[in-house]
Amino acid sequence: MSESDLLDSYKRKIDYLRLAVTDRCNLRCVYCMPPEGVKSKKPEEILRYEEIEFIARCAAKIGVSKVRLTGGEPLVRKGIVDLVKSLSEIPGFKDISLTTNGIFLAELAPYLSKAGLTRVNISLDSVDPEAYKNLTRGGDVNLVLKGIKAAFDCNLIPVKINVVAMKGISDDLKHFVKLTYEYPVHIRFIEYMPVGADSTWSKNTFISYKEIMKKLLSFGKLDAAESPVGAGPAVYYKFPKALGTIGFISPITNHFCTKCNRIRVTADGKLKTCLFSEREIDLIKRIREGATEDEICEVIKTALRDKPEGHKLAENKRISRGMSQIGG
Ligand code: SAM
Ligand code: SF4
Repeated sequence: MSESDLLDSYKRKIDYLRLAVTDRCNLRCVYCMPPEGVKSKKPEEILRYEEIEFIARCAAKIGVSKVRLTGGEPLVRKGIVDLVKSLSEIPGFKDISLTTNGIFLAELAPYLSKAGLTRVNISLDSVDPEAYKNLTRGGDVNLVLKGIKAAFDCNLIPVKINVVAMKGISDDLKHFVKLTYEYPVHIRFIEYMPVGADSTWSKNTFISYKEIMKKLLSFGKLDAAESPVGAGPAVYYKFPKALGTIGFISPITNHFCTKCNRIRVTADGKLKTCLFSEREIDLIKRIREGATEDEICEVIKTALRDKPEGHKLAENKRISRGMSQIGG
């Protein structure tokens, strides 16, 4: 493999694969799904574990070294621990992480850690039990808080918390500030993105990272902080004497496309080189038609050369698939 295999046409080094392992979820977050949920694909349309491993091996062969499992909710898929184990045995992968809503994390963290999972990102949009229940349409925040503790106990670090910032909802920030004093967590406020045909995104629900930062400054001074491992596009700050940091991911007001290093594979086996592009390359069909590892490597490399330079979300563009169907 030559170094140039990893570069797209804009000379970005692509070494990070996000693999959605399911389009199903045990929550219904208001910014991600309608109340009735999203119609799931039929089981036969979803990548089998051996197909996920096949794609992962191809990606490793062309130089991908970091993999993140996501969904839907990855921890609702049976056998996830075994998948982690087999991915961790693929030569070339240095970092196998997972994005989860945390509901089943306390239960599974010891097994995931033993299987080779390196670290977790946990989504938590409010620490207030009632607000969390409303936001997720039924979730129990205490299970997520137990999941955060379990992640530390099992050394799945650095632990990052994803908070989707929404106007009117992300007003009560004191609990998040408190968490950075209790644990060495990295709280990341993510600007709400207009993803999915049913998205409730609008100028009325959107709040920029600068506005969140302004609210946070009422709790004290924020100093620039070092980025944790796998920091991606986030920029980090720290309150004096806090153990953890506060980060901001601002895809809307501050595009980071020039630094994008990732590709995605959806649970139904479509390769996406940009979260915000409708363009998808059908890997599942090719694999089921008998494509070899080398052929799939070629497909991925060709797709990389066509990775878009950037997205146009700030211009009111929206994409049809929701985050749970892409693998956010
Ligand atoms: N179910 C898992 C979870 O919630 O962490 C993994 C899948 S979820 C789609 C991945 C991430 O996307 C979560 O952190 C979620 O908050 C974020 N997300 C979903 N919809 C979003 C949106 N419209 N804008 C910004 N982030 C979003
Ligand atoms: Fe499920 Fe994650 Fe979407 Fe919430 S953000 S509905 S937990 S997939």
